[in-house]
Amino acid sequence: MTAPLIDPFARAISYLRVSVTDRCDFRCSYCMTEHMTFLPKAELLTLEELDRLCSTFVGLGVEKLRITGGEPLVRKGIMTFFRAMSRHLDSGALKELTLTTNGSQLAKYATELADCGVKRINVSVDTLDPAKFAEITRWGRLPQVLEGIAAATAAGMKVKINAVALKGFNEDELFSLAEWCARDGHDLTFIEVMPMGDMGEAQRIDQYWSLSDLRARLEERYTLQDLPDRTGGPARYVRLKETGQRIGFITPLTHNFCESCNRVRLTCTGELYMCLGQEDMADLRAPLRASADNAALTTAIRSAIARKPKGHDFDYTRQKVAGQMTRHMSHTGG
Ligand code: SAM
Ligand code: SF4
Repeated sequence: MTAPLIDPFARAISYLRVSVTDRCDFRCSYCMTEHMTFLPKAELLTLEELDRLCSTFVGLGVEKLRITGGEPLVRKGIMTFFRAMSRHLDSGALKELTLTTNGSQLAKYATELADCGVKRINVSVDTLDPAKFAEITRWGRLPQVLEGIAAATAAGMKVKINAVALKGFNEDELFSLAEWCARDGHDLTFIEVMPMGDMGEAQRIDQYWSLSDLRARLEERYTLQDLPDRTGGPARYVRLKETGQRIGFITPLTHNFCESCNRVRLTCTGELYMCLGQEDMADLRAPLRASADNAALTTAIRSAIARKPKGHDFDYTRQKVAGQMTRHMSHTGG
């Protein structure tokens, strides 16, 4: 039997997040600049290479695969890749195939995704105000996303809404976002804005709305019950006693939950990042392309996992951004 992937801190790596493209049809202000330079297409792993890489990880014990980007659903032929990955669900090797999306292409792909065995998806919605949505995403349109969410729900997928907590932007929508999700049966997770990409320190501090503050505001209206649910990531969950709704908090800044980290991230060019908040990575594209045999690739994966760091160094204390990563979230895959 193949030995599982265990890192130096005895954490089993069972979760792979894969960015299938750095491109996107939106330009969210906390994620991208308006005029991003994207990678030349030739740099990207082909869909066949992505299949081979992901399948190798599945062979090494990865049980959960999250497809992300950039916007994964703008990658040409992406359904071929989902279809290919669904064979690992059928075999039982993979327990969950999922994706994080901005929802713009969901109306088109929801049925096919569900057919490939995708049962739960994350859709990013930071505001329910169409004008504010157009402002924050620059190129996005809210009605199209809402239509996509409706299509996903109709196709039988469970939708979780991700909202980045942005000071002075969606603070006033805390309750409307929660009520909308409760009404439509979506889980909701708030994310603290992370220092990814070169947005300028002042802008980051300006955008940063601490989730401890957000939680305290929720408590003004609801009774929050802490839940023991863990996904191996930085999310912690509560249930609102009055509505029964589950709300998650992703707080890499105010809290550090790296000790239970079970994940690694693969970029669309085949770089494996062992931690979202550290620069160290392993190039898997070279061993992948060097040989049709997976031996060198497997060795490269194992040696990368053997140097997974203990945790990130993000810190916003004392009005300073520390642990800043120059790469954008769309590169590593949020
Ligand atoms: N395009 C897809 C989407 O928006 O859901 C998938 C990729 S996106 C990079 C994944 C998640 O990262 C989104 O929920 C987005 O809001 C979040 N994100 C992007 N930049 C971020 C940042 N600087 N801090 C915190 N979250 C960020
Ligand atoms: Fe695109 Fe997602 Fe980044 Fe927004 S957060 S620009 S939708 S990749």
